[in-house]
Amino acid sequence: MALHDPSTPVSEFIAGKHGIFIDGEWRDGEGGETFDVHDPATGTTIAKVARGTAADIDRAVAAARRAFEERRWHGLPPEKRADVLWNLARIFEREARTLAEIDVADNGMPIAFAEWMVGSTIAQLKYYAGMITKVTGRNVSPALASDQLRMHAYTSVEPVGVAGIIIPWNGPIGTLIIKLAPALAAGCSLVVKPAELTPLSALYAADLMNEAGIPPGVVNIVPGFGHDAGQALVDHPDVDKVSFTGSTATGKKIVQSAAGNLKRVTLELGGKSPVVVFDDADPEIAIPGAAMGIFANTGQVCFAGSRLFVQKKSYDKVVAGISDFAKGLTIGKGMDPATQIGPLISAGQRDKVAGYLETGVSEGAEIVTGGAAHGNHGYFVQPTVFANVDASMRIVREEIFGPVLVATPVEDMDDIVRMANDTRYGLGAGIFTTSVNKAHLVAERLRAGNVWINGYGMMHPAMPFGGYGESGWGRENGTEGISAYQETKSVFVYL
Ligand code: NAD
Repeated sequence: MALHDPSTPVSEFIAGKHGIFIDGEWRDGEGGETFDVHDPATGTTIAKVARGTAADIDRAVAAARRAFEERRWHGLPPEKRADVLWNLARIFEREARTLAEIDVADNGMPIAFAEWMVGSTIAQLKYYAGMITKVTGRNVSPALASDQLRMHAYTSVEPVGVAGIIIPWNGPIGTLIIKLAPALAAGCSLVVKPAELTPLSALYAADLMNEAGIPPGVVNIVPGFGHDAGQALVDHPDVDKVSFTGSTATGKKIVQSAAGNLKRVTLELGGKSPVVVFDDADPEIAIPGAAMGIFANTGQVCFAGSRLFVQKKSYDKVVAGISDFAKGLTIGKGMDPATQIGPLISAGQRDKVAGYLETGVSEGAEIVTGGAAHGNHGYFVQPTVFANVDASMRIVREEIFGPVLVATPVEDMDDIVRMANDTRYGLGAGIFTTSVNKAHLVAERLRAGNVWINGYGMMHPAMPFGGYGESGWGRENGTEGISAYQETKSVFVYL
């Protein structure tokens, strides 16, 4: 039941049969059911996908465990595993446009954003392919030597085992590969549960894994729902590690479920990230930077810069500039190259964002621009800027996950740091200033895992990504990213 012939157009793949990928082969789900996937720009059904349940997760975990115990992947020489990951990177280069178009189809994101995201997955695959041959333990012997006792002691670094990978809908292929690349580099076997709203790019990638030479059972992909397949994966006693990206509420549930067998857990969760604009900032940089910090991907970005703090002298000018920028953005279907703002992912998400727009008004905030749905089809909402907000309002405290910015005037540096840090989250933060000193002093005081100065949202495979507070546990990317899938063993030899 192979799903994909590379010579066929993306629409044929999307309309085709989508099964469950276990042991390198396609199957139907144990329950024989499917679920619908929608185009958020129109609300129409574009695909039917096999619905994985706990029984399918069980089979997938068994396949991953077999692959691990038989050392099909981590038993290969590192150079060979590196070759396979390089193959996958090259195949992703060949398939970049197709992968991007698939993410546009079920997520609705603008094609340019999808292409950027696929580009970053290729960079991650290459970065971790290069790291495979550099994984070594260390010799600790001299530190343990004494007159009485002679020791040879060393550490070895090993894969953690079977890793459960649970991904969200807002960056489907990006949030998959940021986990899969380091997990494979570490030598783990994986069971992936894509988001039910956007399973298609992960399913497309499955055949690419086979083509790259990843042995059967090393990557298994089970589409399905969070409360069902997702929960079964987190509960499973034979899974050693869970890496989850999604909401903070689900992250907390996952921590409790993972406690059953004390799985290692990495969490990339929500945010309410501050963006600070000082009076001395260059408005040509700060206004578009802060605007795209919130409006990119229709605000459905975990590190979206959703709270704006502007020093008093520049406040009116910067808020007006961002509002004009918002009004000028082209809203439309993701495949139209002119589109800068796509739809929200679902009717539910549109209603949630619309609810926050009403809440903001009833809380006494002022809408400077936007504030309503856009068009009659699909799940579009206007980019919105609120002013006259205060720190107690729900629109200031809660993650909206839509194109909604709340703006506050601020006085001095202490004021800025106190207000920016007044959140339970701590994922991203932006600083716009021409003062090098101010930039570094504020960066040091902000409680956030990622700080961008005179820009917003840059990610790089070598730079660890993750959050403080309720934005998560652990880091992805960088050497921290591979460590999340490794155990360290200490070996003592009595001489
Ligand atoms: P979600 O928590 O509803 O779902 C995420 C994934 O978890 C989906 O695959 C879902 O099926 C699964 N899931 C749901 N309940 C589960 C359960 N009980 N057990 C196991 N799996 C379960 O989140 P979402 O709405 O898909 O994604 C949006 C959220 O993700 C936002 O809060 C956003 O900030 C966050 N996010 C964070 C990052 C980051 O890197 N920090 C990146 C992207 C998105």
